[in-house]
Amino acid sequence: MVVGRFAPSPSGRMHLGNAAVALLAWASAKSRGGEVVLRVEDLDPARSRREFAEGIMDDLRWLGLTWDRRAEDQSRRGAAYAAALEKLDAMGLVYPCYCSRDELHAASAPHASDGRIIYAGTCRSLTAAERAARTKPPCLRARVPEREIAFTDGLQGPQSMSLAREWGDFIVRRADGVAAYQLAVVVDDAANGITEVVRGRDLLTSTPVQLWLYEALGLAAPSFIHVPMLMSADGRRLSKRDGDLSLESLREKWPPEKVVGLIAWLYGLTGRWECLSAKELAADFAWDKLREKGRRDIAVRPKDLLF
Ligand SMILES: [Zn+2]
Repeated sequence: MVVGRFAPSPSGRMHLGNAAVALLAWASAKSRGGEVVLRVEDLDPARSRREFAEGIMDDLRWLGLTWDRRAEDQSRRGAAYAAALEKLDAMGLVYPCYCSRDELHAASAPHASDGRIIYAGTCRSLTAAERAARTKPPCLRARVPEREIAFTDGLQGPQSMSLAREWGDFIVRRADGVAAYQLAVVVDDAANGITEVVRGRDLLTSTPVQLWLYEALGLAAPSFIHVPMLMSADGRRLSKRDGDLSLESLREKWPPEKVVGLIAWLYGLTGRWECLSAKELAADFAWDKLREKGRRDIAVRPKDLLF
């Protein structure tokens, strides 16, 4: 059985882009008689708020997107993440890094293709004595192998990436003890029995890192479908700044069927913008229709919003 998921971060309310990803994930699972799990990704206590989680769940219900079960919130999963880190440590796949922000920038490190600084590996081979001499609480980094990770994305097709070149030794636990997203998402998707991850195309480059973690931890990986992102008319990713496309403001002027119909039309699932319930969309859902539309991000222009 297909098990999909909603994995919202409660750092704000939903906008049309978040709603689109949730709708596609839900319709994909439901069109094949599957289940959907809700998991609140409140890993970062400083950025997460309970009222946002409540608001997001209310928006999902309003859209007609129900979940079959709710997984434990990430803020309560510390023990599971610690156990995974211990496992990685036992295999020699993590090490403490004491570098300050300034040291990270000073090290003449290579850059990934999108401009991120790749960690230079400064702390990779510190001796026990050198570690003992440091007083700053370290973060933990993964000891990434020189390897290409290949996989086939359900929408974006075959992918391949060098972990060392594009990611380097990435952080698996922050210096404040909070597990990194890459680790938490793998541990949770496996524990929640997720078989299909539908998410925005911006996370495509994270997938090889996560696949490597699945393999290292001996966990079964789900299949991945990275969907085009909704962009503002001026080419930015939709964000909380685009208040007029927040679910909160759309709910004031439109019924849910109008929002579902707009998303379906923007993604090429229907030929025109018509009112549609989430159930109706799932009944006639096929990824092939999105493949025809293409893999590029989708600009939402003001004239698109005139029903
Ligand atoms: Zn370091």
